[in-house]
Amino acid sequence: MTKIAHYINGEMVEPVSHRYLDNLDPATGEAYSLVPDGDERDVERAVEAAEKAFPAWSRTPAAQRSAVLLRIADLIEANLERLARAECVDTGKPLRLARSLDIPRAASNFRFFATAILHFHSESHATDHRAINYTLRRPRGIAGLISPWNLPLYLLTWKIAPALATGNTAVAKPSEITPMTAFLLSEICREASLPPGVLNIVHGQGANVGAAITRHPKIGTISFTGGTKTGAEIARSAAPLFKKVALELGGKNPNIIFADARLEEVLPTSLRSSFDNQGQICLSGSRIFVEESAYEGFVERFVSEASRLKVGDPLEPDTDQGALISRAQFDKVMQYISLAREEGGTIRCGGVPADAVSVGERCKGGFFVQPTVITDLKVESRVNREEIFGPVVTITPFKDEEEVVAYANGTDYGLAASLWTENLPRAHRLAERIASGTIWINCWMLRDLRVPFGGMKSSGVGREGGEEALRFFTEPKNVCIQFPPDAPKG
Ligand code: NAD
Repeated sequence: MTKIAHYINGEMVEPVSHRYLDNLDPATGEAYSLVPDGDERDVERAVEAAEKAFPAWSRTPAAQRSAVLLRIADLIEANLERLARAECVDTGKPLRLARSLDIPRAASNFRFFATAILHFHSESHATDHRAINYTLRRPRGIAGLISPWNLPLYLLTWKIAPALATGNTAVAKPSEITPMTAFLLSEICREASLPPGVLNIVHGQGANVGAAITRHPKIGTISFTGGTKTGAEIARSAAPLFKKVALELGGKNPNIIFADARLEEVLPTSLRSSFDNQGQICLSGSRIFVEESAYEGFVERFVSEASRLKVGDPLEPDTDQGALISRAQFDKVMQYISLAREEGGTIRCGGVPADAVSVGERCKGGFFVQPTVITDLKVESRVNREEIFGPVVTITPFKDEEEVVAYANGTDYGLAASLWTENLPRAHRLAERIASGTIWINCWMLRDLRVPFGGMKSSGVGREGGEEALRFFTEPKNVCIQFPPDAPKG
């Protein structure tokens, strides 16, 4: 059984405790590798290495940092098949998805920030004829990077790449449920000759390794992606230490469909926004709102297509939907489906675990749930307000713009919204009124790495992506130079 190791100071090392946790394949429910059950002693070693590496890395010319990160991007691409398979086995997501989304995006993250750093610039402000101010941006030191299990390598590299590109060193922690591709990334970093200590990856549980990172006094920058409850805990522990913190948290995103929308485009994209990655994407459009006149027709076609999605072995090429990440997530999703029944909802399809015949003998112990569509729930029901993070969507009719804006804004979350209409003025009006960090008009998950990405309300604080990330990982210092009094006035 593969034994995963920490990556500290350029070496693959065992946890100080010598303790390991089972790492399960969610498609079979069986342990297939061992992940270090790290603790604060491992974090301490990683911080020492990151501290030692910082002076040289932060002074390494941007072009050289860029070259190392580009080598990492190349190696991710060269190992695409191996990484995609590892991500598929570790998460239960279809191999097809890991191959087309997760791993290519991890390579893009490195390539994007490796080149962005070559173009990064800062401001200057001329103060009348008296002085010039310029903003000096410097790396902040050691960054703590904590990521979740739903898009493991994709989200971890989305943090590592900008942190390192800007000259910081880092202590990163992948989810203990999905550590495998971070482990493989460590090997890639060694092969790419990333200097020792620049990136350190410590494995283990959130309460041990994650908490040790967030409270460590030498880690002044924390970039976290995960659940809202964990985000609140991190905010509490980081605040008294005045850390710079970015929190990318949960979502309960509206997918709003007006009667004038082109159904041929809405349907396939809405199926993806509902069920891709088993609905375990923070951006999933889990609340579908359809204008009254189009409601019945949409429900009928959507349910019919959702019922045809193939739930099965993630390694099979024709699988649309794989396994949920864990037994706990499976139980949580099934509990929400029961709650939907109690709250008066009608289960139009799914609502049950996938049957053993459809998933096959190899996967009979896996955590599979059929794509589930629920109607007739009140907008204010818990199922319509709380993040489920599974293959479960609700569909609700709406009368007009006013009503759907209230519906869309009727949760504590504000991460992303999709809006389908051919009426451009209406699209602009709604984009302004919906409280959400991203608004997609006539699309979903169309990502440009330059744009600000993040949430409002309980979906988080701060933005990632492009300039926002480069700014987050640097400290702006204003330098004010007064002109000599005898300087000629222009
Ligand atoms: P989680 O909050 O349980 O865990 C996320 C990471 O935090 C893991 O590495 C975990 O070990 C660590 N952690 C747990 N407790 C910690 C603590 N006390 N201190 C420090 N670290 C700790 O989230 P999850 O279940 O892994 O992921 C699912 C959640 O992530 C969903 O809510 C989803 O919406 C959210 N998410 C958000 C985005 C986004 O960009 N906004 C993207 C993906 C996922």
